[in-house]
Amino acid sequence: MEITLREVPIREVYEGYINDGETEMGVTGYDDELCIRPRYQRNYVYKDNQRDEVIRTVKNGYPLSIFYWVDLGEDREDQDSPRFEVLDGQQRTISICDYIEGDFSVDGHFFESLPSDIRDKILDYKLLVYVCVGDDSEKLKWFETINIAGEPLTAQELRNAIYSGTWVSDAKKHFSKSNGAAVGLASDYMKGEANRQDYMETAIKWHMDVTGDDTIEEYMSARKNYHNAQELWSYFRSAIEWAEATFPKYRSQMKGLPWGLYYNAHHERTDLDPQVLEERISELMADPDVTNKKGIYEYVLTDNEKALSIRAFDDRTKREKYEEQKGICPYCKEHFEFNEMHGDHIIPWSKGGKTVPDNCQMVCIECNLKKSNN
Ligand SMILES: [Zn+2]
Repeated sequence: MEITLREVPIREVYEGYINDGETEMGVTGYDDELCIRPRYQRNYVYKDNQRDEVIRTVKNGYPLSIFYWVDLGEDREDQDSPRFEVLDGQQRTISICDYIEGDFSVDGHFFESLPSDIRDKILDYKLLVYVCVGDDSEKLKWFETINIAGEPLTAQELRNAIYSGTWVSDAKKHFSKSNGAAVGLASDYMKGEANRQDYMETAIKWHMDVTGDDTIEEYMSARKNYHNAQELWSYFRSAIEWAEATFPKYRSQMKGLPWGLYYNAHHERTDLDPQVLEERISELMADPDVTNKKGIYEYVLTDNEKALSIRAFDDRTKREKYEEQKGICPYCKEHFEFNEMHGDHIIPWSKGGKTVPDNCQMVCIECNLKKSNN
């Protein structure tokens, strides 16, 4: 791992500057050697006053905080692509270059209208840049430990920077645009923001469950130079389509559930009838003893009652039963202190017993364990 500090004059960064925001072709500079903002990356827009402050700082020769660039290396896959990528300082770099380009004025002055010595002062201003070279996992570790001021990156944004390549570029086309295909298909089912890479991260986590990769880093590293991310995209589509087909009636509780994991475990089953499932779901939604409504979907697939967080008996009911039973466990007939006993459903919830006083008995911990294991 190697980190070097460089001083890069703005004049050099501005050389060959292209900001083709309209077509999302990305932003490049430094004589085509620096990718300032990759295609499809979120366009994090500065407010005018933040932008103007950067220009004033440069004009006055005051220090800007350090910029971070990733060195993609001489042996990068695509030799025509820029060698460096801005990891931190995108907006500051774009503000400065757009100003020189004449896109806006600050304090009444466009760049062109400044005296030539001031223009030179701006162009000669040196950015302090940390350039980091190393293998992918080293870079990732390093970026995770630095606290990038101003624009903290999500874990998946960092991974995309580290494992950038043809796979990531294609995956972003599907998963990372706010009006992109993944959002169009799955926004009812997904939490988070596509342009902060939450969709891509979730899709990878689900797919890893099938591919056997242990970590997202391992998954991305193995696919870094794939020409496309069709494998992940097809998988994701199948998972969402399965969820839609299996549970055709949409409810807000379905948003953010691990649909891919449900799909992995259940999509080959032939016993799932959407109509029967819907009847059970509807009943469980109305059951006051089911306190975790989101867990209903897992429950109807797996019968795991824990997912429902069945309501427990309240303290008052338990105290009353304890007094009635005089502290005697109905199974072992021994006496116990109140806190050595559990409030137990006489008829289990799964057999139709409700969480109501008539269905409560106090049972010692040991007998309770035996009972629930039967
Ligand atoms: Zn007992």
